[in-house]
Amino acid sequence: MREVDFTLSAGPTTASARTLAALGSPITYHYDPAFLEAFRRTERKVASIFRTSGSVVLMQGEAILGLEAGARSLVRPGDKVLNLVSGVFGKGMGMWLRHFGADLHEIEVLYDDVVDPDDVERFLAANPDTAMVAVVHCETPSGTATDVESIGRIASSRGVLTLVDCVSTVGGMDLRADEWGLDVCVLGPQKCLGGPPGMSLVSVSERAWETIEANPHAPRSSFLSLLDWRTTWFGEGRFPFTPSVAEVHGVEAACDQVLEEGLDASIARHAAAAGACRAGVAAMGLRIWPKSEAIAASCVTSIALPDGLDHDRVRAHARERYGVMLSGGQGAGNLVRIGHMGPTASGLYPVVGLLALGRTLLDMGVHVDVGAGVDASLAAIASRAALA
Ligand SMILES: *Cc1c(COP(=O)(O)O)cnc(C)c1O
Repeated sequence: MREVDFTLSAGPTTASARTLAALGSPITYHYDPAFLEAFRRTERKVASIFRTSGSVVLMQGEAILGLEAGARSLVRPGDKVLNLVSGVFGKGMGMWLRHFGADLHEIEVLYDDVVDPDDVERFLAANPDTAMVAVVHCETPSGTATDVESIGRIASSRGVLTLVDCVSTVGGMDLRADEWGLDVCVLGPQKCLGGPPGMSLVSVSERAWETIEANPHAPRSSFLSLLDWRTTWFGEGRFPFTPSVAEVHGVEAACDQVLEEGLDASIARHAAAAGACRAGVAAMGLRIWPKSEAIAASCVTSIALPDGLDHDRVRAHARERYGVMLSGGQGAGNLVRIGHMGPTASGLYPVVGLLALGRTLLDMGVHVDVGAGVDASLAAIASRAALA
């Protein structure tokens, strides 16, 4: 199998040379004072990326760990929980919540759409005993973005907790944990931070800690336990288990890169890359998967494929013939995705993705105007570069 030239997937994304170098730092004892300092620095950096003054738990496992830990810790059997489903990850969260005993209510829409915050408001008004709302910021497979700001404000104004899967957005799309009243937020470093895929970065509000501590069903003495981190690490300075030393260095480097660039600049860069990609998609004669541009995410562009064309075949062809790795639909629909995450949300990366996809479709007999797509995408990139 040939080596891939460009990894333009929707996470894990291409890591920067700086992140790779940090991942290669010496493996030290986890109680080496230098590592303790690095760990604490990383917590502070992650907190500033979440825009929270609350606590951050650096869990040692891919982001699914943080999501499962958050859901298990917050939910008591019988709790009324509203889960918003607009895609694969929201659907999966619902299965967990039901399994953990929640009295589950869902607002579900088609996977090219997002849930309207007004519907959340209506549900909470009619169900004042709701304990929690679970929401996915970007349904990465669909490439859609939900209005987490409005939903967070609506929920917190009613004293309802929020569990937010913002695994793929933070660093590339605006998210303000404190200002928007979000209680537990889970981020994966392998997405917009351009880091390695081995950790879950979790922000926990004071309100959420109170709920978790009062929940006899919250995991304790468990790999899934948020409480263990609170008691042993925050409380006593002891790790509940050995942290992944190399991953922590990789995550710190990824955070440094975003913070040195500036969080707002990083967010603007992701938006520009996605805009350039969408311009190319339309000019090429293709359609984005989300039903409108207004709900299209900045971290990934999902592109609908013509009927009869199989997304796995399209991706395999783009990779084998042109050396470009794209993502598939992960069950959301017949689509392919070009990621704009971390390093790939810059320069000509969106154009490379469009070229590989466009030429692949031509090879497969689908008529697309690759030149027009490239021109439109380049024009968007050039006009932004001229402003800088
Ligand atoms: C990447 C991602 C996760 C983590 O899931 P994996 O399937 O392990 O990659 C969770 N939620 C969202 C929205 C994601 O994009």
